[in-house]
Amino acid sequence: MQTTLADFIRDTPEGREADAILRKCVHCGFCTATCPTYLLLGDENDGPRGRIYLMKQALEGQEITDRTRLHLDRCLTCRACETTCPSGVQYGRLLDIGRKLVEEKTARPGWERFKRRVLAAVLPRRFLFASLLALGRLARPFLGSLAEKVPASTPPAGAWPAPRHARKMLALAGCVQPALSPDINTAAARVLDRIGISLVEAKGAGCCGALRYHLNYQEDGLEDMRALIDSWWPHVENGVEAIVMTASGCGVTVKEYAHLLERDPRYAARAAKISALTRDISEVIDAEHARLEPLFGKKGGRIAFHPPCTLQHGQNVRSVTERVLARAGFELTPVPDSHLCCGSAGTYSILQPELSARLKRNKLSALAAGSPEEILTANIGCLAHLRSGAELPVRHWIAALEERLS
Ligand code: SF4
Ligand code: SF4
Repeated sequence: MQTTLADFIRDTPEGREADAILRKCVHCGFCTATCPTYLLLGDENDGPRGRIYLMKQALEGQEITDRTRLHLDRCLTCRACETTCPSGVQYGRLLDIGRKLVEEKTARPGWERFKRRVLAAVLPRRFLFASLLALGRLARPFLGSLAEKVPASTPPAGAWPAPRHARKMLALAGCVQPALSPDINTAAARVLDRIGISLVEAKGAGCCGALRYHLNYQEDGLEDMRALIDSWWPHVENGVEAIVMTASGCGVTVKEYAHLLERDPRYAARAAKISALTRDISEVIDAEHARLEPLFGKKGGRIAFHPPCTLQHGQNVRSVTERVLARAGFELTPVPDSHLCCGSAGTYSILQPELSARLKRNKLSALAAGSPEEILTANIGCLAHLRSGAELPVRHWIAALEERLS
């Protein structure tokens, strides 16, 4: 694609990066076939190729309108288009640059700005979110259709094993996960403990920064990332073997710290080290399967696995969790269109509720197609989103795997 970026951005780092990405796109449109919003709405501007054109126009200095912002807002950032693209167009990076520019050049209505501010203020703060969740539970009978967004209960966390092994890995507690499903990290710690690895959490570690960064408070998101690096750094210096992610939405972001902070002279080297150490829990378990397999008890049940977009498209970790679950004795039922997003996508289910609800309905019916006994997934956002409308139980796969250990 030929480009002529406007003077205001051409010679900036973002301008150069966007230009390089745009030039790779050959307009073939293969990506539209796997774009969930294009499949729902049938509008070229609600598919990746159309959005790439909109961002190109914005970067070339053409008029940016509320329609431009609307089409970019409707993007799930699922990155299915990146998986499909034969030219290696890094759509997600381009979208970060395009959204920032469009946000600066248009005036978002006050109510939208307020909603985004509240989400950016509440979700990354673990104790504030937990308190509001507890209040929401009390108010559940009065919330009407909103009640399904507030889970009636939280599974018990269970006991965390004492750190007794020489091999140590670091876990991210995360911001919303401890309040919604504290059993996930405990299950990961117990599974790893059985194979000689102690999982530890860093005191004071907060949000990975994804929430604020993707709400377009990019500087605030970068501050969250720096704060998390500071919390983790003593453990890194003490030689933790890996940083384990049980939420793929956080994992994809931490794996990108190296890129996101590469122009920060104080943090670039540490960010690169953190990204290099980061693994999804499925990658860790897969690598240790020889030690784990003798520990599995009786055969597991029939399950449908939902691979989050942040795992399969963002981190390019495909079929690994499925392999781990099959080795653990679970029978995986077929799931059509497993490459498509469930509609959770961070704060998308709150900011784009209608599209999100349609995607959730489609996903739940695809997951139920093979008559599983339960649905397993790998990201707290997808888990909470699917659980709010599912007839089947929905949980993190590591919690199900832990139950299989004899
Ligand atoms: S990130 Fe997802 S929703 Fe956005 S354009 Fe790509 S495929 Fe479509
Ligand atoms: S598949 Fe890749 S090269 Fe083709 S239109 Fe989409 S982004 Fe451009």
